[in-house]
Amino acid sequence: MNAIFQPDRWHGKIYNGQWAQGAGGSADVVDPATDAVLGSVGLPSVADVDASVASAKIAQQSWAALPFTSRASIIRAAADRLRERTDEFADWNVRECGAIRPKGQWEVGITFDQMQQAAGLTSLANGLVYPSTVPGRTNIWHRVPIGVVGVISPWNFPLFLAMRSVAPALALGNAVILKPDLQSAVTGGSLIASIFEEAGLPEGVLHVLPGGADIGEHLVQHPDVGMISFTGSTPVGRKIGETCGRMLKKVSLELGGNNVHIVLPDADLDGAVNCATWGTFLHQGQVCMAAGRHLVHRSVADAYAKKLSEKADGLAVGDPSTDRVHLGPLINDRQVQRVHALVTESTNAGAKLLSGGQHDKRFYRPTVLADVTPDMGVFQNEIFGPVAPITVFDTEDEAIELANSSDYGLAASVHTASTARGLAVAQRLKTGMVHINDQPINCEPHVPFGGMGASGSGGRFGGQASIEEFTQSQWVSVVERATEYPF
Ligand code: NAD
Repeated sequence: MNAIFQPDRWHGKIYNGQWAQGAGGSADVVDPATDAVLGSVGLPSVADVDASVASAKIAQQSWAALPFTSRASIIRAAADRLRERTDEFADWNVRECGAIRPKGQWEVGITFDQMQQAAGLTSLANGLVYPSTVPGRTNIWHRVPIGVVGVISPWNFPLFLAMRSVAPALALGNAVILKPDLQSAVTGGSLIASIFEEAGLPEGVLHVLPGGADIGEHLVQHPDVGMISFTGSTPVGRKIGETCGRMLKKVSLELGGNNVHIVLPDADLDGAVNCATWGTFLHQGQVCMAAGRHLVHRSVADAYAKKLSEKADGLAVGDPSTDRVHLGPLINDRQVQRVHALVTESTNAGAKLLSGGQHDKRFYRPTVLADVTPDMGVFQNEIFGPVAPITVFDTEDEAIELANSSDYGLAASVHTASTARGLAVAQRLKTGMVHINDQPINCEPHVPFGGMGASGSGGRFGGQASIEEFTQSQWVSVVERATEYPF
């Protein structure tokens, strides 16, 4: 038996500063490849959420009062623990989330980088001194923590997407309640709490409460949670945004995408196909930035489709814990049915199936569809599966119009031999991120990340942008003696 299955201190528990029984009982952690039970996590009740928020509210004050160097060294120590436990984290990502091992290892690496970045932010939350119209007065404008930040995270890159909010929020003096998805509550929850615990994070500053929509909603509605940082689907994000709007609560929404991979006639076709293969099939296409629509110039479309379908046919699909594969299982049966329904509906409407289109249980073959038109489901929806729909265009204007016809606006890629042409196209795309001669799945923790339109609320993660997200500003004016007024 692999060491990851040995009972650990967090099995069956929630983390409220200590490992504790949740009043909601516990939930099995299940391998999507085999249905094997891997362990269990604790489930909180709404009363547990209330208790955690109350404890976080108190702990936050002394946490924020610490010298910034102390906060930075705890985050760095947690990052070191993460790196030392890389194999364990990657193993859990494979077994709990259906990730291939390189994805699990990559996620540990980028999360480590993200934590180092966050530790660096502790000294950078500076402000400005403004002149005053009042003689002798100094105007100080500076950043202060929000207080208690609620982080709600998804299952696809559960470690990184939780830490992307948890680490900067902590670094900038907030306490955090993390609610991971139940399908990834170990990789994106319990293990995160365990590294901060080992790093000596003061009790009460971080809580991990795995749960479903009910627990998430309670966290969002809690009056003492000053901000919600949500990463997940657009419909849920919209709902959370509505609640936060009504409550006048700060909210950061990083949502879905239906990202284009544009191939102009002068592109290096092999390069474009290689990038497309990665950008579409990585983690079975369950990536918010996945290349979901391939827009290809008519002059190269047949050759592109042939090459991409040959690549797709050459990819291995299977259990990533026992086989050397490129793709593991989709996360659940509902997702398999959804992906298959979109593919079937589109082939019934005239799309040509060049590869895949079949599945064995949750193992979905990499799928390539040609002759896809903008009215088809695979064009209009975020598929979140290993499907490459190819749509042909004749002019650059048409490609841009097709790209911008989606409500989403997360990421895009453009292939061309001319970087000037690529930059000109990028400027006309309504997406938060554009990568020229690459594919849309890109993230560097020091570069501001985020979407436009229905892909988010406009906030950004990364570098200085995280300071904007996880603090609020305060104007403090000071004069030596009480100001005199006419009455
Ligand atoms: P989801 O919206 O179903 O769930 C995300 C999280 O929200 C989970 O923790 C879930 O338990 C919680 N939740 C669900 N309903 C809730 C409610 N009513 N109130 C509060 N919390 C609630 O999304 P998912 O299926 O886990 O993830 C896939 C989606 O996330 C895709 O649309 C993908 O594009 C998007 N995503 C976006 C980014 C990004 O950075 N923009 C990154 C990863 C995933």
